[in-house]
Amino acid sequence: MLQVGNLKTEFRTDQGTVTAVDEVSFRLAAGETLCLVGESGSGKSVTALSIMGLLADNGRVAHGSILFEDQDLVTLPERQLRGIRGNSIAMIFQEPMTSLNPVLTIGDQLSETVILHLGLSRAQARERVIELLAKVGIPRPEEIVDDYPHRLSGGMRQRAMIAMALSCAPKLIIADEPTTALDVTIQAQILKLIRDLSAETGTAMILITHDLGVVAEMADRVAVMYAGQVVEEADVFTLFDEPKHPYTIALMRSVPHISTPAGDRLASISGSVPSLLQMPTGCRFHERCPHAMDRCRDDRPELLQLSGQNRHTVRCWLYDDAAQPGTTDAKVLA
Ligand code: SF4
Ligand code: MG
Repeated sequence: MLQVGNLKTEFRTDQGTVTAVDEVSFRLAAGETLCLVGESGSGKSVTALSIMGLLADNGRVAHGSILFEDQDLVTLPERQLRGIRGNSIAMIFQEPMTSLNPVLTIGDQLSETVILHLGLSRAQARERVIELLAKVGIPRPEEIVDDYPHRLSGGMRQRAMIAMALSCAPKLIIADEPTTALDVTIQAQILKLIRDLSAETGTAMILITHDLGVVAEMADRVAVMYAGQVVEEADVFTLFDEPKHPYTIALMRSVPHISTPAGDRLASISGSVPSLLQMPTGCRFHERCPHAMDRCRDDRPELLQLSGQNRHTVRCWLYDDAAQPGTTDAKVLA
């Protein structure tokens, strides 16, 4: 359904052009949930915004392709892209307050989408919105429909956002840290809601998170991002049982301390994500990697498919011999 091939996204800044996403490739089948996981600044959100065509004015996709049902979203004119966005592809953001219009009632903004995309009348749209609000577990939907966003709790607003995302029966939902701003109990409820609804409707999902508990709960497949690149991709069981990339292994080590605040989980890896303005040469992880070899400092590893493994790719020189050059996702998709 979705094939991202060799995506490179750049931003113009005062200090020059920075590459926020580089050589990112992955694919997603209908109904699948792919988690993009990594520290903040690893390029997860920029990848999502590139797919949606919602990059800031100073950003652009400089290279690569984003094939959605055989249309390349990179080269598609904005008018057609707008048709796909909010129709076939919907997005759920971390903070619903920024995506809900504060001066419109919940009913009015959800109706707007439904009227625009499904061509319903006002009265039909209102009925449909009440149905949707009930579906996402909002109590008294026939009253809430006339409330303004600020009257709702954070959890209820996020439910309203999910209702909005679902209102056009999208084929793909991109959710960027959808529960990070919520307390733990509400987080679990919202995640369960998203999972149940996407299973029910067969919607594929890209779920962005830095939380491995969320990954374990939600993912079919996982792509681990580091410094703007995918460093490993596999199905969720393989990734948790047999992580290969030293960065993924370090991430996994932080799992047992699930109660540790998210920001501290990677304390076991010394150093921090490199600045986009000063990307290390060679492997971008080499300054933090306990296994770094001489070649890691100079040669950039490619994302290679591990031989004998079904769709398990890793970007690390340690697996050079075990990999099958020429069969990487990146190469196949390029
Ligand atoms: Fe570590 Fe080298 Fe592998 Fe990079 S390529 S993760 S530095 S071993
Ligand atoms: Mg982000």
